[in-house]
Amino acid sequence: MRHIQRRIALLALPALVGSILVATGPAGADPTGPSAAASRSQPEDRESVRLVQIRLTGADMLDKVAAAGFDLEHGLRRVPTGIEGEAVVTAEQVTELTAMGVEVLADDAGFAWSDQADGGIGVDAAGARAVQPSNHQATVRIARADWFTTKGQGFLYVEARTTEGQQADPIVGMQLENDSGKGTPFGFARTMSRFVDSGQYMFHRNLFKLDTRPTRIQVTSSTGGVTTGVVSNWLENAPPPLTATPSYKSDFVDGYKHPQQLYSRAKEIARQYPDIAEIVYLPNQTNGYQRKAQAQLGGTGQAAVVVTSAAWGHEGGNDITVEFVDRPDANLPLAVEVTGKAVRVLLATDAAGGPASTATQVADALRTRSAGLIDRAHPYRTNEGSGIVAPTAGPVALTDFLDQKRVGAPEGEVPRGPATIPVLRIGKHRDGKKPGVLIQAQDHAREWVPATTSLESAERLVHNYRSDRETKKIVENTDIFFILSNNPDGANYSFYNFASQRKNMTNHCPDASADPAQRNSWGVDLNRNYRVGSGHDGYAGGSTNCVSGTYQGPEELSEPESKNIIWLVEKYSNIKFMMSVHSNGGQLFWQPGAYIADGRITTPRPPLGDEAFYWQSAARILSQVKAHRETVVTPENVGGSSDVLYSSAGNVREDLYYTYGIYAFGWEVGGSVYNPATGNWQGGSFQPEWTGNPELVSGHAETMEYANGIMEMFRVAADWGKDKKDPTSRLIPGDGKYRGPVDVRFETSEPATIYYTTDGSRPTLESPRYAATEFREPGQVFHVTETTTFRWFSVDSAGNIEKNYDPTKKDKRNNYRTATITIAKK
Ligand SMILES: [Zn+2]
Repeated sequence: MRHIQRRIALLALPALVGSILVATGPAGADPTGPSAAASRSQPEDRESVRLVQIRLTGADMLDKVAAAGFDLEHGLRRVPTGIEGEAVVTAEQVTELTAMGVEVLADDAGFAWSDQADGGIGVDAAGARAVQPSNHQATVRIARADWFTTKGQGFLYVEARTTEGQQADPIVGMQLENDSGKGTPFGFARTMSRFVDSGQYMFHRNLFKLDTRPTRIQVTSSTGGVTTGVVSNWLENAPPPLTATPSYKSDFVDGYKHPQQLYSRAKEIARQYPDIAEIVYLPNQTNGYQRKAQAQLGGTGQAAVVVTSAAWGHEGGNDITVEFVDRPDANLPLAVEVTGKAVRVLLATDAAGGPASTATQVADALRTRSAGLIDRAHPYRTNEGSGIVAPTAGPVALTDFLDQKRVGAPEGEVPRGPATIPVLRIGKHRDGKKPGVLIQAQDHAREWVPATTSLESAERLVHNYRSDRETKKIVENTDIFFILSNNPDGANYSFYNFASQRKNMTNHCPDASADPAQRNSWGVDLNRNYRVGSGHDGYAGGSTNCVSGTYQGPEELSEPESKNIIWLVEKYSNIKFMMSVHSNGGQLFWQPGAYIADGRITTPRPPLGDEAFYWQSAARILSQVKAHRETVVTPENVGGSSDVLYSSAGNVREDLYYTYGIYAFGWEVGGSVYNPATGNWQGGSFQPEWTGNPELVSGHAETMEYANGIMEMFRVAADWGKDKKDPTSRLIPGDGKYRGPVDVRFETSEPATIYYTTDGSRPTLESPRYAATEFREPGQVFHVTETTTFRWFSVDSAGNIEKNYDPTKKDKRNNYRTATITIAKK
């Protein structure tokens, strides 16, 4: 048979509204940030920092403010007017923020999503339709239309795009209408909010309260596009959680735990359940809960000197005293006397017998002539140190400040020095053959709920293993690694010294930022210290400023805590799943999580099969969270973190997914909870009162509900490990003769990625990948204008290939899929 030369025009068309290409992809609606004041249960710190609610115009301002050293991470949410969240600040910093253009909101003054207007507002539905042109498909697409309920209230979340969204003059507006059930007319027209990030139009989106579930929506753009779509469910009909089984044991954690308690319980579990648990020690010790001892003498002016010991405070630095001594005689040179740990600087005198040493001279003398006791001595911050140093009233003791506990700190002494982090490994078969799951909690020190959530999950595994069938299946089919706190030094600092500590305790600061008043701002943001999409590569969201809340460190993997994670996933290459557990925000993230701001270039988007698998897993996990007390993580807060929130350069998820192919989730537990009494969403906090209000903000309730989600993640991994079933796929419409151009798309039986060709060649892993029309949308639609043969195969998330086809080598069978769209000549 003669092969006919074929030419085809492939043109990606917008996908049909509401069509879910991958049948398993849950349609989720995700509300962009209900915002509310955080509960103010954090203990006061001596430095009198406080949480204020702020609003920024967008990611650009966020980067600028973070670069200036502000601590703004977490609890951030997108609102139509920008980004809102809480900042940990002093009173002076509030002024500074305001000067940078940040809006500081009064409590409860945050953006509130509007309720549906009674009886509809604005344009009459029929009238609106009358003015729409009929040719509309190219201008408006609906990405998500999701319905969910929580605490008796219904919500509709819609995400829609106009292809003219980037247009600035005039800005294209979008109107949303919905029906009130099957067969009812569209109505209740409302204006949608335009979401722009880093200069790029993303989509329009809104969350609306509704009492009746709509079946369809209609979105109309101000330039004439109109489209309709079907409403899907988000986390509705969640199956009962494991905790619903009467004999199932839960609720093991009775309060917040500092790292020593977490680690000691982990070791105890390994001793109590040796058949299913063991400890793996991470090789790199932390830099330690320890500080050099310091003193700042002479105020903050040109005569001030900042002194830092060579030894750690607990290793002798705290025993050092420094004294500036005046002498009666004239024209004496500067001298230093060291007796034991007492350092006496004998100030130079002038012709009249008065002190004559400048701060710079004194600092130089201390550094070079203190018998090795003083490591650093310098003028205050950026001062030149030209002032004449005054004598001190007597010896001044250096301190590492670690004995000065914050109000409300737990009893007991914190072990000083480097810590070894134990990993609690649970699984019946820890031979590297079962899918590994890494649960990594508390990268950020002040996030106390992630640690208790992870510990609760571990307790549920070991306590229910013998008595509960589902738990037994998890333990027998997975290999779980718990890092209950990945930042023990910072966590201790958060428990004992400064509650709002985010980073680790490594001080990489130069002299200008090394005075003791800045000690609460030192450290590296461990979740900015990784190698993929990092700040060092030009991605946004990591800071080069050592006192910034998002300081990325002097180089990639500079910190032992991040080196350990890489060591772990390289040593245990069966680790295929990871959850980086953070708080607070009510968000579930994956890739892409970082972008280069100029042009908003993200790390590569996961293939459609991975994206669908992430959504499917997210829906399972979040349904189990919801089953506890109806907390809904909304679809707007689920997805690639840089798509729905902001860019976080050098985060751990990007590294693990792109370097090792690990499905790497990031979780912000303890997010907003809908409060039916007020009709508003109430935000969470880093350290909510443990008992708190069990229906609203409570560390205990959050621990229990998110532990449900972690248990479900284990089941996701177990199912993945057992998945030996090949995916199937089809082209819609399939083989056949058509009278004119045809729009075709692929569908798969489960989350799977399709590789295809249209040029007659056999498909391989290098062939084009079937992609989404745009991110967060279903698969693309091809407009086929000439006879075309598609050749393809699909690969599921577990690596099974349709029909056992081997795309890596030429085999005679060539059992890939084919379909020919024959277009009749006119
Ligand atoms: Zn965090």
